Amino acid sequence: MSGLYIHIPFCSSKCAYCGFYSVPSMKRKGEFLDVLKHEIVSRRAYLQGEKVETVYFGGGTPSLLKVEELETILKNLHDHFEIDPEAEITLEANPDTLSLDYLVGLRSMGVNRLSIGIQSFFDNDLTYLSRRHDSRHARQCVGWAREAGFDNITIDLIYGLPTSDAEQWSRNLDCFFELGLPHLSAYALTLEPNSILTKQIDLGKTSPVNEEDAVRDYGILCQKMAQQGFQHYEISNFCKPGMHSRHNASYWFGTPYAGFGPSAHSYDGKSRQWNVSSLEQYVGNGERNPEGLTDRKGGKTENGKLFEKEILTLEQRYDEYVMLRLRTMWGIDLKYLKSAMGERFSEHCERQAQPLIAQGRLSQRQGILFLNDEQMLFADGIAEELFW
Ligand code: SF4
Repeated sequence: MSGLYIHIPFCSSKCAYCGFYSVPSMKRKGEFLDVLKHEIVSRRAYLQGEKVETVYFGGGTPSLLKVEELETILKNLHDHFEIDPEAEITLEANPDTLSLDYLVGLRSMGVNRLSIGIQSFFDNDLTYLSRRHDSRHARQCVGWAREAGFDNITIDLIYGLPTSDAEQWSRNLDCFFELGLPHLSAYALTLEPNSILTKQIDLGKTSPVNEEDAVRDYGILCQKMAQQGFQHYEISNFCKPGMHSRHNASYWFGTPYAGFGPSAHSYDGKSRQWNVSSLEQYVGNGERNPEGLTDRKGGKTENGKLFEKEILTLEQRYDEYVMLRLRTMWGIDLKYLKSAMGERFSEHCERQAQPLIAQGRLSQRQGILFLNDEQMLFADGIAEELFW
């Protein structure tokens, strides 16, 4: 079992809060598609013949590509990897790029899960975030997606916004429920280093972000989603039973995956590698070698390649397992730790967990360590206390 991720690094413009790698220009699209094609071919052995169960087009804004361009990428993936006929094929889309015709095209080329970046159903929030769509168009896109034949639809919302309050956030969630969708990803607004929003706040040009608002909104989120029968399966993700993102779940289960395109990460079970976060370097006269792509004309990463690689030690794999699984409803399985990594790791984890359990920050049931709903927002800090 394995997954494929394709990073499409283009956006129509840069949203103020964005921390993802993308460029606000399509100028190098042709070169990108050419190098991407080659990268897929050159790394066809990366997953060692493992069957692919999920394909994910992320970005950036994958829906800026034409249906035919996405179809060509998918065909190339089919030609070089063994993709299960029942594979989950997700595409991230922004409302300002969607039309009914486009969505019909996506559905017929094989995309079966759509992730729409709505972020809010209130226009004052959307203006603050410098999104390109309005709430009316966002709803229209969900209607078109259904008409085009998508039933596996998820949307993103952002909470903790200074333009919103508890009531507005609660109404935002009601708008989501009215649409009857099976999945929601909800993220706290974070100030990414060097984002436009961070700079604007530093200069006093826009409203600052208050962490307490995010904690308040998270409480509302957890409560309302549970009332509506959604499973809280990861800090930021909620689904109707059986409708979780199979692709994202595979990251939390340590499934191997290959990532293509600038800034894409890959994992083969023993090592991680990540492509350079630069379209310039990715396409810049890429020269092929058996290990991937190297750059001829400067712009090299430290080791002269277009990706960096790290072989993970057992201790690093333990830390990753703890960090990733603590964020999920599946929790840390002490029996798995013992069998896969050894007794010293399961014992260390259990020992470190005791004070956290006593403080009510962690629970243990049948050999599994979980975070309670309201503690999920603090998962990273709690995980650090369990690290090796
Ligand atoms: S659309 Fe997404 S990736 Fe593009 S700039 Fe906005 S937040 Fe970033």
